[in-house]
Amino acid sequence: MESFRVPLPGADPAFVWRHGLLGSSPDGEAAVLRIGTDDGATGVALATRPGMASAVEDIVDRVLRDQLVGKDPLQREYLWHRMWEIDRTEELPLPVLGLVDIALWDLAGRMTSQPVWQLLGGFRTRIPAYASTVTFSSIEEFLDVASQSLDLGYQAVKLHAWGDARADAELATRLREHVGDSIPLMYDGSAGFDLPDAIYLGKALTAAGFLWYEEPMREFSVTAYARLARAVDIPLLVAETSDGAHMNSADFIAAGAATFGVRTSASMRGGITGSMRTAHVAEAFRVRAEVLGDEIPSQHLSMAIPNTTYYESLITSNVVQKKPEIDSEGFVHAPTGPGIALPAGLDYPAVLRPYVDGTT
Ligand SMILES: [Mg+2]
Repeated sequence: MESFRVPLPGADPAFVWRHGLLGSSPDGEAAVLRIGTDDGATGVALATRPGMASAVEDIVDRVLRDQLVGKDPLQREYLWHRMWEIDRTEELPLPVLGLVDIALWDLAGRMTSQPVWQLLGGFRTRIPAYASTVTFSSIEEFLDVASQSLDLGYQAVKLHAWGDARADAELATRLREHVGDSIPLMYDGSAGFDLPDAIYLGKALTAAGFLWYEEPMREFSVTAYARLARAVDIPLLVAETSDGAHMNSADFIAAGAATFGVRTSASMRGGITGSMRTAHVAEAFRVRAEVLGDEIPSQHLSMAIPNTTYYESLITSNVVQKKPEIDSEGFVHAPTGPGIALPAGLDYPAVLRPYVDGTT
């Protein structure tokens, strides 16, 4: 088991999510975790969020190598539970908690020459993508970005906006008028509101016919979300960043807060294993598990989870760039390489490729 630090170029151009949040990261470092077997097979996982390079290096050197090396890498269930035991005293950052699991799924895929979505039991081979905006400076610029995205084939648009309930409500209304009734629209609050403002905005999004209302508040209070769900008609998509994987998602659902569904992702839900558990819990309650888009494992998850609707594709600049993984009809297709690897055509820092391919 090894961890590497590799240079990670910052977003160009830089962007912001909403007022008050840190925006895109400047040039920094990513963590690469590589797990090898005695017969030479390897699995790789990447952590690209800020600060993860040092966090991964620390936990590998101080705890994980000693705790995990020598165990059977195909016993992912045992190792997943082992990570939660380690988490009890370490309180690991969520992206680190799932990193070993991601590398083990990659390893299993490489050993069997299958992409991970197939190992998981594939459900589909393509899924429509939505254009997920960052925050732009004016309503007019948002409308322009939406038009460019739809022209490129995207089938739906999700707003990350300013985090001002009145301004964002006005934006949502104007966007609906701009694109017409047939384009699915979604709104992501990036946890910018308290309950009164979340209710105000939720009513505006309902009037504008939005498909879902995502993470309007920090996800610490399930009760606040349950109250929001009772106060607004628009379906809520929740539990993106909260700790506790499927166990926590279950509480949001049971409280009546996940009226559209829950978020799922390898980085925030404990790797591939935790993501799939979350999706299955949601399916049991007949709600969706929508995959967080801008991560390497997300294409695999979106091909394997039945109760998911879209692939999230980030639009971080105006002019909107065509992304190689999205076809002209707005679909992303199932990766074909073994393991998680680098899905074909994914926009990914070239500097990481040799580490992922195992050629360095
Ligand atoms: Mg979100």
